[in-house]
Amino acid sequence: MNITQIRNATIVVEYANKKFLIDPMLAEKGTYSTFPDTIRQDTFNPLVSLPTSIDNILDGLDAVIVTHLHLDHFDEVAKNVLPKEIKMFVQNEADAEEVKASGFKNVEVLQQDTIFEGIQLVKTKGVHGRGEEL
Ligand SMILES: [Zn+2]
Repeated sequence: MNITQIRNATIVVEYANKKFLIDPMLAEKGTYSTFPDTIRQDTFNPLVSLPTSIDNILDGLDAVIVTHLHLDHFDEVAKNVLPKEIKMFVQNEADAEEVKASGFKNVEVLQQDTIFEGIQLVKTKGVHGRGEEL
């Protein structure tokens, strides 16, 4: 397995000759305003540039996993540049509907035990920071 952190939550996982992109936030540095209630209220997001080109990130991509739909995990640039036929995995039906509404045609809700082209994807429960679970 080869894991490449692109930026923040955005990572590429290469495993068994398949390439997964997790939580794509692909905008240029400083595209979005600050996030409410965060410490860095003086700095726009993303905080740093992509370390490689979007073409490199998309090259040979087999599937995308979007853990949730916050801007820092799935942004407008990702919606625009990802091929609409790419396999998209999301956490639940509500997210699936939103991703489909962005034009993606091959959206699947991750289950406890999802198989993608012979690779087992195991969904684990998470809590989004402190406080309300989103
Ligand atoms: Zn979030």
